[in-house]
Amino acid sequence: MTCPVIELAQQLIRRPSISPNDEGCQALMLKRLEAIGFHVEQMNFGDTLNFWAWRGDKNSQTLAFAGHTDVVPTGSETQWSSPPFAPKIRDGMLYGRGAADMKGSLAAMVIAAERFVAEHPNHKGRLAFLITSDEEASAVNGTVKVVETLMARQERVDYCLVGEPSSTDRVGDVVKNGRRGSITANLRIHGTQGHVAYPHLADNPVHRALPALQELVATEWDKGNEFFPATSMQIANIQAGTGSNNVIPGELFVQFNFRYSTELDDVQIKQRVQALLERHELRYTIEWNLSGRPFLTPKGELVDAVVSSIQHHTAVTPQLLTTGGTSDGRFIALMGTQVVELGPVNATIHKIDECVSTADLQLLSQIYQRLMEQLLA
Ligand SMILES: [Zn+2]
Repeated sequence: MTCPVIELAQQLIRRPSISPNDEGCQALMLKRLEAIGFHVEQMNFGDTLNFWAWRGDKNSQTLAFAGHTDVVPTGSETQWSSPPFAPKIRDGMLYGRGAADMKGSLAAMVIAAERFVAEHPNHKGRLAFLITSDEEASAVNGTVKVVETLMARQERVDYCLVGEPSSTDRVGDVVKNGRRGSITANLRIHGTQGHVAYPHLADNPVHRALPALQELVATEWDKGNEFFPATSMQIANIQAGTGSNNVIPGELFVQFNFRYSTELDDVQIKQRVQALLERHELRYTIEWNLSGRPFLTPKGELVDAVVSSIQHHTAVTPQLLTTGGTSDGRFIALMGTQVVELGPVNATIHKIDECVSTADLQLLSQIYQRLMEQLLA
């Protein structure tokens, strides 16, 4: 007999919810949550299904669990050892798209809530779920919109655990207590197109840009701090040229991205880049796209409770890290909420043959339940 966490994870994996589709995952979760007394509010925006569900006293201390039902595309299905939407257990590992990111976590949360409510039907505070179907793709109509709605009516959310797969080797070995910011620059350096044999009649933007790009790459933006590694800038794309070897191009396009710490903000980054470009006397246009500001949840009630919940059920001492890509935690933190991420091992996420340890999912569910007990019992 399979355990309830694995059973529910399998039911979720069977629904091929490629972002931003939900394919009935949320309905399945909602049925379970309604059965144990959750108030449910669907908040659908555009192509995205979201819900906010809660149980307990609306005006009291609130612990929310957050996550997404959508998954990334499978890649070539024939390369999978078993079909990506037909969950299979082999050697203690549950295989399927979304097993680790993050349908396993969703199942662990729901089962943890069921067990917690059975033991503490009149728990203090409020237990909540914030679930979206648009985390992996555009993240436009998902958590960010739900958070806007909750903020507009001044809903209280003190603590939030996001079930993203944070762990490296063993479940609980890494808790993310913040994330770096991410900002992208789309830079166009303007020159004058011409014949390569007549360079005096042209102005080569590639030649003009090289020293500036060299300086951009060599710059130390900050040294990071206790919680964040140093800010990193990476060039993601460079394009120029007409395809012909006898034409000096009229324009050079460069795209670069910063993953930045709390030592910097987006305004400072823009100012420093633009000062650098001015110093090199370039003619340019630049467009910025801020995809997320950094956030940090320092040691405090939530971090302490998460760490002690992990230590209660495992022999692991979790590391607090802020590395990795952005997550929906960045939106939730805007409410002034303490936010951490704790989920299963992320070694296979987004890959062919994504999988998660069934024992880890059961452990994760116990850790989640322990967190509910610590903050709400
Ligand atoms: Zn995810």
